Amino acid sequence: MPGDPPPLEFEPSTPLQFLPGMGAARAERLRRLGLRKAQDVLFFFPREHQFPPPPTKVDELREGQPATFIGKITDAELVSRTPGKSLFAAIVENESGAVRIVFFNQPFRAEQLTLDRSVRLSGTPKLAGLRWEFSHPKYELIEADEADPENAENKGEILPVYPLTEGVKEYELRRLTRRVASVLAEGAKEVMPASIREAAGVRLRDAGIELAGDLPDIATTLRDIHCPPSAETLTAARTRLIFQELFVMQLALAMRRTSLTGRLQAPAMPCTAKIRQRIVRRFPFELTADQNRVIDEIAQEMGRQFPMNRLLQGDVGSGKTVVAIFAMMLAVASEHQATLMAPTEVLARQHFQTLRKILADSRVRIGLLCGSLTAAQRRETLEKVASGELDLIVGTQALVYDIDFHSLGLCVIDEQHKFGVRQRVRLREGGVDPHYLVMSATPIPRSVAMTQFGDVDLSTLREKPAGRGEVHTYLAVDSWRDRWWDFVRQRIAEGRQAYVVAPRVGDETVASDSTSGSTGDAADALDDLDALDEVEDVTSVNRTFEQLRDNVFKEQRVELLHGRMKAEAKQDVMQRFADGEIDVLVSTTVIEVGVDVANATVMTILGGNRFGLAQLHQLRGRISRGVHAGYLCVFTDGERSPEESERLKVFEQTSDGFELAEADFRLRGPGDMLGKKQSGLAPLRIADLNRDVEVLQVARMMAQELIDEDPDMQADEITGLRDQVLRRYGNRLDLGDGA
Ligand code: ADP
Ligand code: MG
Repeated sequence: MPGDPPPLEFEPSTPLQFLPGMGAARAERLRRLGLRKAQDVLFFFPREHQFPPPPTKVDELREGQPATFIGKITDAELVSRTPGKSLFAAIVENESGAVRIVFFNQPFRAEQLTLDRSVRLSGTPKLAGLRWEFSHPKYELIEADEADPENAENKGEILPVYPLTEGVKEYELRRLTRRVASVLAEGAKEVMPASIREAAGVRLRDAGIELAGDLPDIATTLRDIHCPPSAETLTAARTRLIFQELFVMQLALAMRRTSLTGRLQAPAMPCTAKIRQRIVRRFPFELTADQNRVIDEIAQEMGRQFPMNRLLQGDVGSGKTVVAIFAMMLAVASEHQATLMAPTEVLARQHFQTLRKILADSRVRIGLLCGSLTAAQRRETLEKVASGELDLIVGTQALVYDIDFHSLGLCVIDEQHKFGVRQRVRLREGGVDPHYLVMSATPIPRSVAMTQFGDVDLSTLREKPAGRGEVHTYLAVDSWRDRWWDFVRQRIAEGRQAYVVAPRVGDETVASDSTSGSTGDAADALDDLDALDEVEDVTSVNRTFEQLRDNVFKEQRVELLHGRMKAEAKQDVMQRFADGEIDVLVSTTVIEVGVDVANATVMTILGGNRFGLAQLHQLRGRISRGVHAGYLCVFTDGERSPEESERLKVFEQTSDGFELAEADFRLRGPGDMLGKKQSGLAPLRIADLNRDVEVLQVARMMAQELIDEDPDMQADEITGLRDQVLRRYGNRLDLGDGA
């Protein structure tokens, strides 16, 4: 159109109450959806779309063909000739004509379908004389203005479905968004230049995403998402918005990653073939191909001056510890210190023993830091760490994070299941960052790895060391108990050992034994994470223990382990179990992580319905560590909820940790895993990490390429995009100074 465009009816910044036909009361209700200004409405995206068949006009009705008809009741009559028998009939009319509806013996219809009400009918009509008749149709009473033939609903158009709030009807929102889009979409600011939309279109199609051409521009997108003219344009619009949301997120993550690697310096600790060989020689077994591959990945990265930030994921029993030990010894070979942190003292001590065994005849000096040390022992250890007299320091996380190292080169964190923003070790004034290696047996679904872990490299151990006995998992009913205990006694008679994991009972409070656990200063309390295990039920595990000792395993050596025992007592029990001096270990989930006793092959889980999938799998991992087949029997208590049944079924059928993690993700959603509050990522408005993982992959690749080329996003054509990245993620990801 030539000349100036006509002035707009309203501007993006116009408050809602000043929109045509709005009014203060309705505007107030819309505020609950977060809508304040016209602009907000433009970016208020539908949850989904419906494709309802168009309502039928009278002359389009066909005998026996289902149809929808919308109109107003212009006549209604309830006839009742004999008691108990009635006929209700009404005429429903619109501009195309009138139909009749009838209900037999349902007199209450007369109360709903009153004169002048508007209704939407659906059913299969018949010709009765000259009129079409719907007998017992389905119907919905609607507002008079909903029946307006000009409404999208009444024209057979694709319908957006918006999130609603009380007092706001779907058709009202549709009308509002349609109006706003028709006025404002054209002027919306485009942040994705055509070159990016085009490239993304190609990549997305290559990835198998259904898309006809390039990603549409923003004006088209906004118009089509609110009032799509066709299924195809709708798909294009949705794909663009999903892509954009994920692209912005991935740009933020890529920027952070790049700015971190540019800023930080780590000691380079190169690995020669000779060093590698010298380290590997110490292991009592051949490394698996996977272990070798991951060791290469790690060695290569540790050889550089940028801090490694790597997550090593591998199913329980896949042999992560060896990889960690390799990395630690590589650090020592370059005359740096390395630390290995575990979440519990039991596990820290186990790692300490493993290292001592492997390094028995070497000059490597190893220290242990955990809650049960005396103050004097602790002081001595800390001094040696600070002066460099210790090379390897194994300890519990809470203690190790805050100590002074002489020259820390590598920090390994074992069994990190909560994927929050990671704490960093304390650095000396002017010191360089260490390399980080985080290990987890809870595999991370691809989508989570690409978001939460956007700035972390992943290594994966898929293969397990050869010769592993398989674990048989049984989901038991109570009547099996006696037979199962027989079975356990037989295995013990053959020389094996058994775990019994006692139930945790929901919120039942634990009879607190305040003198147990801590032996030193305040830090001790923090040290012992398993003592903080708030749902652990000591009463119940005690009872189970006594009952099993006195009735079921009279002839066997039965001991108890739980997080509230004193550290030395715990250690003593673990040691004797490892040495084969205990047949049955009755325990809480203290043994959940990492504990490695190859001769223990039978496990009983009581109250298994109360455990999460990841936890069950961790527990099962305790008995899949040796050459003997493992046997796990899960008992449940009380009625299982449908969720619990589903979870247990998946657990029984799958022993692959990766499959389980994906299933868990499906069953629970990403919430838990991302640890929402700490995830540092903005909530997504239209993308869904589960559903849109392919788009996510493309967005991630393109984001990294863009940032590699233009780390601070300085190019003119992407300033809009850059603003969006900073607005949405700047504070959360601390991008301010990097940009
Ligand atoms: P996780 O990955 O669960 O931490 P671990 O590192 O504790 O697993 O290893 C589990 C067990 O497998 C340990 O007893 C370890 O000694 C053994 N192991 C690790 N790698 C190999 C291998 N390549 N061959 C044989 N046994 C191995
Ligand atoms: Mg482990």
